[in-house]
Amino acid sequence: MSVIQNFCIACGQQLTRPIISNAGVICSICGRQGLFRKQIIITGITQMNHGNICVSGVDLKTWRFVRPLFRAGLQRDFTLDGETQVISHFNLVEIEFKHYRPEQIHHTEDWIINENFAPKFIKHLSNQEIINVLNKMAISDLNQAIQPQDKSLFIVKAKRILQIWDEISFGQFKVRITFIDHSGHLHSGIPVKDLLTLCFIKYQKSVNNNNYSNELIRVFNANANRYIRIGLTRQFHGQYWKQVTALITVPDLFNGNSFSFYENKIGNQL
Ligand SMILES: [Zn+2]
Repeated sequence: MSVIQNFCIACGQQLTRPIISNAGVICSICGRQGLFRKQIIITGITQMNHGNICVSGVDLKTWRFVRPLFRAGLQRDFTLDGETQVISHFNLVEIEFKHYRPEQIHHTEDWIINENFAPKFIKHLSNQEIINVLNKMAISDLNQAIQPQDKSLFIVKAKRILQIWDEISFGQFKVRITFIDHSGHLHSGIPVKDLLTLCFIKYQKSVNNNNYSNELIRVFNANANRYIRIGLTRQFHGQYWKQVTALITVPDLFNGNSFSFYENKIGNQL
């Protein structure tokens, strides 16, 4: 299946001629540019190895996903401005980019950012604005959306979550989710890498709430606006594995709290 690029990945302007490529294409004007700033709606903050995190969002100009990367990996401090969490779900922030660095399969959203420019908070989206973003970006059939191999990030409209559970695997705290997407396909035991969900569940367990799973499922499934953010891993054992990178409802499932809110309550980091 060939993917055709009609618009510049940086500015969103129509290209002079369409180009067949899984990765985005930069127009000649943007190609001559040095550093430039983009306004991004944050849609994911996920746990990586060695205390690093992975941030992703939606570029307001192009309505495409963007994954800002540091050459040396992104530390948690990047999300904070002093005590304030700038990088939080559905915040609009300004980030300075150096250049677009896509892979050809799935991971076409990677941009190298300027580490000397602190992300600037612009505003938190209203519920109506969040619903507009979700309506614009969401897909209903995850397997079909993965097929062209031109994306690694998806907002999936969910029919319902069937199960959420935690486990200790290789000495590490893990959470998994089984859900049905809007098209009716089952996705079983998908690992959760969303820092917020992980911190929330760890907090529930720290106060001996062992019913957190039923509570979370009930509230999620009862919400008219329910979505699951999915990210694909880099290639690992020959596959690009699905991971849950956010549970999204409007109004918010976590009352607007960020991962650091629960982390501070527990008093240690995951
Ligand atoms: Zn351009």
